[in-house]
Amino acid sequence: MRVVVIGAGVAGLALARGLLAAGHDVEVYEESPELRTAGGSVSLWPGSTAILDELKADYSGVGRRLETMESWASDGRMLLTVDLTAAERRYGHPVVHVARSELVELLADGVPVTYGARAESVSPERAEARLADGRTVRGDVLVGADGRRSAVRQALWGDDSATLSGWVTWQGFTLRPTRLTEARRAVMMAGREGLCGLIPAGEGRLLWWFDVAAAPGTPLWGDDPDPVAKLRARFGGWGDPVPGILDTITELDFFPHHKHAIPDVWGKGPTTLAGDSAHTMPPTMAQGANQALEDAWLLTRAIDGDPAGLAARLRAYERARAKVARRPARIAATEATDKLQRPLAALLPDGLVTRWYTAFLRRASNYLLTAS
Ligand SMILES: Cc1cc2nc3c(=O)[nH]c(=O)nc-3n(C[C@H](O)[C@H](O)[C@H](O)COP(=O)(O)OP(=O)(O)OC[C@H]3O[C@@H](n4cnc5c(N)ncnc54)[C@H](O)[C@@H]3O)c2cc1C
Repeated sequence: MRVVVIGAGVAGLALARGLLAAGHDVEVYEESPELRTAGGSVSLWPGSTAILDELKADYSGVGRRLETMESWASDGRMLLTVDLTAAERRYGHPVVHVARSELVELLADGVPVTYGARAESVSPERAEARLADGRTVRGDVLVGADGRRSAVRQALWGDDSATLSGWVTWQGFTLRPTRLTEARRAVMMAGREGLCGLIPAGEGRLLWWFDVAAAPGTPLWGDDPDPVAKLRARFGGWGDPVPGILDTITELDFFPHHKHAIPDVWGKGPTTLAGDSAHTMPPTMAQGANQALEDAWLLTRAIDGDPAGLAARLRAYERARAKVARRPARIAATEATDKLQRPLAALLPDGLVTRWYTAFLRRASNYLLTAS
């Protein structure tokens, strides 16, 4: 089949890779003049590392395998530890943390992408897109993998863009060695001031991020003239290694949290969506890239088959994914992990939470639900 994919992010690239391997003709159109490698790093749960194996995207040389996910109080006291090796043993695939740049470069390898090609308007019933340069491209299937501000979603559903959750992330990498840089621990420290996350991403990098409640026009929104000073004032009294990391900040990215309502089906006729265009969610459950890979995996299977039943298979793909993607999206939308939960976290036994989290990872993955 001829498949037109709009957008060369995680969803579009993973989908194109799977479809090419299955023998389809695939065209990927990306508005940016080159692969967009910006951003921090992302955690990939066992369903995603399994999907990367199927896509023959060898991640063994990038990022860092994680063994624990820990909740600390803002003074640095350990409150709770989730053993991520339990999920690795249960599902046979590890949890790894990789730079977004490395993930998209791995996925893009061997995928022909037309850069500088923005889809301006889309005719869903005809699987057709008009590009900014005036060309019209048409497939047997058209997939909008064009992210949160999706032109394809707009054509399908009109103006139902994602809404702000009320929280934002400021993030970056530090290369100054800390006690966590060479560890295999993901740490989340929560306090009244917000949340600080710290995860090693390999190559001597430690991803740090600060989540704070902020809205347009308030301090620590993206146009704040001095976010570094405000982060230092707010989090400077926290436990090690936060003050040292705040000292190293020279550059930082702003990432407002958005959420979508996820409908039961999100396509029409031969046109569908994948990734953030279908289900943007705040990053607090670390699921955005994972849900994009899940979409790509299931959609590759839906496209393969008799052309006569294609539209029905696309709707079945959407239903199956909507049901599963809503689970992390609902929790992420509450921003629960950003909120101070010290008494609760300290009371919960590590083993119980590890069992819950291991089961949750399966419930958030069509791949794992099918395979295990
Ligand atoms: C530059 C960038 C940095 C990011 N950094 C982080 C981060 O640090 N941490 C994190 O958790 N998540 C980050 N994300 C989001 C994360 O990658 C996504 O949540 C997740 O991977 C889902 O990916 P996606 O492919 O659905 O969407 P995206 O990654 O947003 O990719 C969509 C792609 O479609 C392209 N596109 C958009 N509109 C059009 C159009 N009309 N025509 C053609 N192409 C179009 C975009 O340029 C983009 O390359 C980032 C995304 C981007 C694009």
